[in-house]
Amino acid sequence: MQRSEAILKATHILYNSGQDSCKLSAELILAYVLGCTRLDLLMYDKVEIASEDLEAYQKLIESRSQGEPLAYILGEREFYGLPFKVTQDTLIPRPETELLVDLVLALFPDDLPLFFADLGTGSGNIGLSLVNFRQNWRGFLLDKSLAALKVAQENAINLNLAWKVTLILATFLDPPMKSASLDFIVANPPYIALAEKDTVMPDVLSYEPKRALFSPNQGLYHLTACVKASQRLLHPGGYLLVEHGASQGDQVREIFKRHNFSHIKTESDLAGRDRVTWGAKS
Ligand code: GLN
Repeated sequence: MQRSEAILKATHILYNSGQDSCKLSAELILAYVLGCTRLDLLMYDKVEIASEDLEAYQKLIESRSQGEPLAYILGEREFYGLPFKVTQDTLIPRPETELLVDLVLALFPDDLPLFFADLGTGSGNIGLSLVNFRQNWRGFLLDKSLAALKVAQENAINLNLAWKVTLILATFLDPPMKSASLDFIVANPPYIALAEKDTVMPDVLSYEPKRALFSPNQGLYHLTACVKASQRLLHPGGYLLVEHGASQGDQVREIFKRHNFSHIKTESDLAGRDRVTWGAKS
């Protein structure tokens, strides 16, 4: 079968199964199978596909039509302009989370030598983006999942950033760094309330790691743990920045206040929803 015909057929299959961006997905998956670029496909669209490649392609199109996220099929997702490897052990980085990186870079515009932690690093997208943009920053990237840390490690190596980060297997409750040793802490913790499970898109629920999504105590358990850990780890004046759900702004500011943080602010994402709260340790 020619490439153009295979793409057309795959596009129809994806469309009929209710997926979006069908043609783009069909092209990206074929480029992935053939190990070429999308441009190659368009330029040499009459080339015949070898039967084993066609078989592999059909399998992946079938997975996509059943809802497997494109990022997991391709094994990669772009975040802050950088390619991140992702597996089903890690959350797929979201564009909203780029706001967190924007805010940190704006808060510390100078490239002074700073130490920070990224709690629940997953694929490493936040922490690695930060050290990519600041020569002198050094980060501790923590996750309680060894499988996720391995992905973060691979990303650190692929992006030539491994020398700037230390990967640590730990939960939010027991980060093993010294007290009052960090300049800032970032986290995109699990923050969806268990009771809100029904509001989560079915494909997210079926494929993405639940431990990265859900948090007890109305979604506030891990956010609270981040604030407590930060109170110990930050030096006075150091900042904590956390992502949270659109309806959690008031509660998160309250948690910051209760733990003696000052200069507390919440920033909205591009859709105008509360997304990131930050504050300074008093
Ligand atoms: N830090 C990663 C991200 O922002 C993982 C977050 C998580 O697992 N909750 O995508």
